[in-house]
Amino acid sequence: MPNTARVSTIKRCAVIGGGIIGVAVARELMSRLDGVQVTIYEKEDRLAAHQTGHNSGVVHAGLYYQPGGLKATLCRRGVELLQEFVGERDLPYEACGKLVIAQTPEESKRLDNIFARSKVNGVPGVRMLGASQIREVEPNAVGLSALHSPETAIVDYAAITNALADDVRRAGGRIRLGQEATSLEQRTRGAVVRTKDDAENYDLVVACAGLQSDRLAKATGEPATPRIVPFFGQYFLLGREARDQVKGLIYPVPDPKHPFLGVHLTKRIDGEMMLGPNAFISFGRESYSWRNVNVRDVLNYTLFPGFWNFARQNVPSAVREFQTVVSRKKFIKEAMRFVPSLEGAKVLPGTRGVRAQAMNGDGSLVDDFVIARRRDVVLVRNAPSPGATSSLAIAEYIVQEALRS
Ligand SMILES: Cc1cc2nc3c(=O)[nH]c(=O)nc-3n(C[C@H](O)[C@H](O)[C@H](O)COP(=O)(O)OP(=O)(O)OC[C@H]3O[C@@H](n4cnc5c(N)ncnc54)[C@H](O)[C@@H]3O)c2cc1C
Repeated sequence: MPNTARVSTIKRCAVIGGGIIGVAVARELMSRLDGVQVTIYEKEDRLAAHQTGHNSGVVHAGLYYQPGGLKATLCRRGVELLQEFVGERDLPYEACGKLVIAQTPEESKRLDNIFARSKVNGVPGVRMLGASQIREVEPNAVGLSALHSPETAIVDYAAITNALADDVRRAGGRIRLGQEATSLEQRTRGAVVRTKDDAENYDLVVACAGLQSDRLAKATGEPATPRIVPFFGQYFLLGREARDQVKGLIYPVPDPKHPFLGVHLTKRIDGEMMLGPNAFISFGRESYSWRNVNVRDVLNYTLFPGFWNFARQNVPSAVREFQTVVSRKKFIKEAMRFVPSLEGAKVLPGTRGVRAQAMNGDGSLVDDFVIARRRDVVLVRNAPSPGATSSLAIAEYIVQEALRS
């Protein structure tokens, strides 16, 4: 229940970050608080410039997440809210379905556990398939067994962010593009957001800065760890003639030995078929090509002991991923484990995304969403996948919590 005394003190709010989570938070604040003024600060010249505009576009159904955790609950609620929103706005949404395919008896066993977990998480329509049933869903796919999630869907998250921003503007919100928040200072009441041009006081500030979230947290006096360590994900696109060999999404069974999933096949809402993403350390938090090296970002993780702990613990994964980085052939071979008929298919380089993955000092990756609050400042410190799926629910959760006391 919101605290009515607190609600009455909140007249001016700022959101730092114009990705899907920041814009969703701004919209939620405006719909929950009468007469509130909301300003979004986005350092780029457009919304959705980083993770939101460089992701796989999948509306995850919530198969894998620890029951009761934020990912599990906010993902399911997020799907509900997203479906409602895209329905109202007539934005594209395709429930193309997803197969998670096991190739070995050991993977089959792990898949049974995922199936059980998806049931606990309330994922609709999931069922286990035997080898022959796989072909009924994906005629060219092979495997020992598979989990089918028919309601896993695809969307365009940048388009959704822009539609959410239209609501913010219509309700009188300000969106300041090209305005980097250079500092965020807590005050006894409220906080000050500074840019190179000005400084403004707010009653409540929510920072949804994605790849820069630890830096903003540090600026407010919070610990710098968990640290954002950037891992890029490269995509390739299947040539037109091979595109129709896959109908929806085909994923491997996650392996606890590897921190990232491995190459998979993802249909895109515009009809393209993507291979990837792989996962490898990036030479910059916002670097979308090898040529773009950000020395400050590289020093930030190379001087962080957690990164070296992570590297030591994950040598086999680094080798696996590196092979897909340097060899397009190896990349396609990974996908061919699930769809052998892709042999010889033409692939073209696609986009690259960089994950804002928070890492602990011992090198472990922070799994769940982390949302920290100190007085009138809320910081989204870890919102990896399924962060876009969950964005409207994350916004609902942040605003509920911020209005509590
Ligand atoms: C390769 C990849 C694939 C993914 N696939 C999926 C998927 O299929 N489904 C899914 O649900 N999730 C997926 N995700 C995760 C999803 O993209 C993120 O969870 C989500 O986009 C996070 O949104 P955000 O608004 O927090 O971050 P972002 O979209 O990164 O936005 C943060 C914004 O803050 C701005 N900013 C930073 N610092 C400042 C500052 N100081 N002042 C002003 N502005 C600032 C940045 O410019 C940026 O625009 C994927 C992510 C990646 C990288």
